[in-house]
Amino acid sequence: MSNVPEMFGSMVFNDKKMQERLPVTTYKALKKTIKNGEPLDISVANAVANAMKEWAVEMGCTHYTHWFQPMTGITAEKHDSFIYPVDDGQIIMEFSGKELIKGEPDASSFPSGGIRATFEARGYTTWDPTSPAFIRDRTLYIPTAFCSYTGDILDKKTPLLRSMERLSSVASELLHLLGKKDVTRVTTTVGPEQEYFLIDKKMYDKRPDLIFTGRTLFGAPAPKGQELEDHYFGSIKTRVAAFMNELDEELWKLGVMAKTKHNEVAPSQHELAPVFATSNIATDHNELTMEVMKKTAEKHGLVCILHEKPFAGVNGSGKHNNWSISTNTGENLLDPGKNPESNLQFQLFLAAIVKAVHEYQDLLRLTVASAGNDHRLGANEAPPAIISMYLGDDLGALVDSIINGTDYRSHGKAEMLTGVDVLPDFKKDTSDRNRTSPFAFTGNKFEFRALGSSLNIACPNYMLNTMVADELEQFYEELKNANDLEAAEKAIIKRTLTEHQNIIFNGDNYSEEWVREAERRGLCNYRSLPEAMQHYVDKKNIDLFVRNGILTEAEIRARYEIELETYSKQLRIEALTMIDMAEKNITPAVITFVSKLSDAAVAKKQLSESYSVYAETTLIGELSEKLEAFVKKTAQLKEAVDGAAEYKNDALALSSYYRNTVFALMDELRKIGDAMETKTSAAYWPYPSYGEILFGV
Ligand code: ADP
Ligand code: MG
Repeated sequence: MSNVPEMFGSMVFNDKKMQERLPVTTYKALKKTIKNGEPLDISVANAVANAMKEWAVEMGCTHYTHWFQPMTGITAEKHDSFIYPVDDGQIIMEFSGKELIKGEPDASSFPSGGIRATFEARGYTTWDPTSPAFIRDRTLYIPTAFCSYTGDILDKKTPLLRSMERLSSVASELLHLLGKKDVTRVTTTVGPEQEYFLIDKKMYDKRPDLIFTGRTLFGAPAPKGQELEDHYFGSIKTRVAAFMNELDEELWKLGVMAKTKHNEVAPSQHELAPVFATSNIATDHNELTMEVMKKTAEKHGLVCILHEKPFAGVNGSGKHNNWSISTNTGENLLDPGKNPESNLQFQLFLAAIVKAVHEYQDLLRLTVASAGNDHRLGANEAPPAIISMYLGDDLGALVDSIINGTDYRSHGKAEMLTGVDVLPDFKKDTSDRNRTSPFAFTGNKFEFRALGSSLNIACPNYMLNTMVADELEQFYEELKNANDLEAAEKAIIKRTLTEHQNIIFNGDNYSEEWVREAERRGLCNYRSLPEAMQHYVDKKNIDLFVRNGILTEAEIRARYEIELETYSKQLRIEALTMIDMAEKNITPAVITFVSKLSDAAVAKKQLSESYSVYAETTLIGELSEKLEAFVKKTAQLKEAVDGAAEYKNDALALSSYYRNTVFALMDELRKIGDAMETKTSAAYWPYPSYGEILFGV
């Protein structure tokens, strides 16, 4: 194992390299941009571009790429070489400030939700100097934002950067008012815990459903699933450990602080958590992490699956978005401190978040909606589709005392007595973990747990930042003219917590009672993407983004269209894949097996009338009956897919049709298919079983 501190960031044009390679004035100017968000001068860009290129070429690079995050949900890159023609047919390696700042991918094929017609196909990528450039596969990667010729935003990164700016300026303003004059910048930080499956490539290659859709569309349960809970935190298999070690190294080289790794609940499921970073860097790093996971798996003869629900009957994969806000002076604004009861600043931020989550629960719900995540939310493994907040005993008691005007008594940090002399005693955390809550306070941060594993975390984070910024702005407006600041703060806190306490729920989110209780409280419960997504364009939500300068109404409507279209397309691909598997492989396999059984029965009887053909005829009977239902259901599903054409001009109606009609039939078809799998000889079944896939590494 090489020297980790030396290896860490070796592929990143990080602060140390900038300091070494840039003239002092350039370095200082760039730092001002990075730290304070000040605009960048072209002369600075030229010097930075040159230094970046020199370093990249020394590292063996021949190309650079503007790396961006379009609305496809994955990252995009177009590579250009550094070569530049000079006299005599010679070339030199060149990279200008202009090339660093602006790229022009012909972007007509990226989703734009109708914003950009193909005849005006220009799209621009713009360097994001706050996220460092890095090297992969002999290419210099430059993190960028992506917009259209007319300036409409076409990516996930720009709204995130805008929301960070917005939150910073509003929170700084408020903190100044509260006496924290030295705060010049407030940043949001994120630590995303990433779950994934790792399966053998040989199995994967035999499953068209995994190849085309990322999840299995057929598959009877294996005799063993996750019921023994022996995989969670279990000892890591050698082959998986080798993958994880290489993954860590690759990520460290890229400056990603991979920190924690362990086996997860389902067989073949694992998790990686990094040390948290500023939101935009955390977003870039999470995208990189997912890509590096996939590439590293390949090298080990494995496939990394990031789909939210690759296997029915065992847990799917999510992503926990740990989120906090801190100042440039090093203060975590969500840290309650020793005396939260007298910490009005903390209470004010807490109240803003409670109000934001309550008023915009629909946005938080829809930002985690996807075809994949629909299989998890509301099922017994992920937080439910109902958004609520968990504060824990201590903060819960604090909030109660504020609302009721009573004394607050902390539960305090109890000493944990292990009762064994050689084991050190330690302080317990003040709150236990409530794993069922979608939005839980965990000491000095909130953990938004409803994200799907493949989601780009930019969206939930820009929504979170925007809604909290908006509430803070309202508080600021009310407080700025107050005669008695402290009294005004207390009044806002008490009023806000009283009005919005309905979003707080410390109990079991998985219980049936909660569904009823949440309904009584008037909380939303949107079970699928079409149900949730229609609220994207509710007036209050459009107003929020427009008021805070994050997205225009046209951009929101475009995003809404893209989300619905993507959902319908994904369900269509799933349905077509199922039909294909059913007609080309499953039905023929069962027919072959049944005819083998018949041959066997006939042959037996020819040998002697007295031989029993009970087994053969019973199986033939059962399978024939199921096969008939299966073939009819396949035809029905085909018809249903064709029927979608009727809704093609209404994205919402189309997505609801896919959910309510097509998806329902897929479910029914699968049930029959899986029942046939359990009755068909493994020698004839065309696909590897759940047992082989989930326990095959
Ligand atoms: P658990 O699984 O117990 O919830 P992990 O250690 O797996 O916890 O992950 C916790 C995540 O929270 C880590 O990524 C960590 O860096 C992140 N985190 C810790 N403090 C902050 C903070 N102030 N802001 C954002 N994320 C944070
Ligand atoms: Mg964890």
